[in-house]
Amino acid sequence: SHGAQLIDGKALAQKIQAELAQQIQSLQAQYGRPPGLAVLMVGDNPASAAYVRGKEKACTNVGMASFGQHLPATTTQAELEQIIQALNHDERVDGILIQLPLPEHLDGVALLNQLDPDKDADGLHPVNLGRLVRSEPGLRSCTPAGVMELLKEYQIDPKGKHAVVIGRSILVGKPIALMLLEADATVAIAHSKTPDLASVIRNADIVVAAVGRPEMITANMVKPGAVVIDVGINRVTNAEGKSRLVGDVHFDSVKTVASAITPVPGGVGPMTVAMLLQNTVWSYIQRHQGVQQA
Ligand code: NDP
Repeated sequence: SHGAQLIDGKALAQKIQAELAQQIQSLQAQYGRPPGLAVLMVGDNPASAAYVRGKEKACTNVGMASFGQHLPATTTQAELEQIIQALNHDERVDGILIQLPLPEHLDGVALLNQLDPDKDADGLHPVNLGRLVRSEPGLRSCTPAGVMELLKEYQIDPKGKHAVVIGRSILVGKPIALMLLEADATVAIAHSKTPDLASVIRNADIVVAAVGRPEMITANMVKPGAVVIDVGINRVTNAEGKSRLVGDVHFDSVKTVASAITPVPGGVGPMTVAMLLQNTVWSYIQRHQGVQQA
């Protein structure tokens, strides 16, 4: 074996953002305003705060307007609903994202349902999930869209391949499975009740891990030559007390059997942010031109 090709999400995300920056310049010249994104963050979860900073920085880097709001943990459901309604009606705002997880007292699903589906930058509103199920144009969830974009960039065509997605969350697993299906893969979805996970994974030409368990996918589970996409982001602490990020895949062993593999960090993570910006530009174009540009 020559070892796996490294699928570089950081580089692709930068390329996409450079293209978006150019596109935004010409859109602004044409329509008189830049696309606008509002990231809503409630409370002070440190991981969420870091993600939100990254999203807002990327937003301004590409020339998009940022209407983010950082709200105290005590914000009520009614207050958030009012903010969402105001953003729904704000002509400068094309994309709205509610950073998850929310504090315990808030009902995230009810808030998602309040979003104007055409401003739902994260693609998690039931209307957009329905559009995905129906293979209709619409806003697609960012992390799954980022996975598909990586496969496309590396000319890995899912058509006719056996794919397994480990994880079935609404945020990641389920939409990825549907997108792979849309791309003509034969798709299996594994989860915590799947017996003999290893034999399911070993059957797959494309493995997508979206579990949230550090390094659980090991080389012995993976078919030689498979493509391995690692969505997991897990913080682990070593014996010396130093912490680092690892994926759901045991990278050092799996890279010796896979044909291509994403690293963590630098794989799927940066693509999520790039897709968020791309979705916001797509919404902007829909609102100005009313044409479907998938
Ligand atoms: P969830 O906790 O919502 O879902 C985890 C899924 O994994 C569930 O479907 C669960 O099964 C399944 N699962 C748990 N344990 C096992 C097991 N032992 N064997 C098989 N399946 C198992 O997590 P998310 O989907 O939100 O996120 C998954 C990972 O992706 C996390 O590490 C998260 O940090 C990361 N992530 C990364 C993003 C990025 O930008 N790269 C964005 C979002 C998430 P069941 O349904 O039966 O409980």
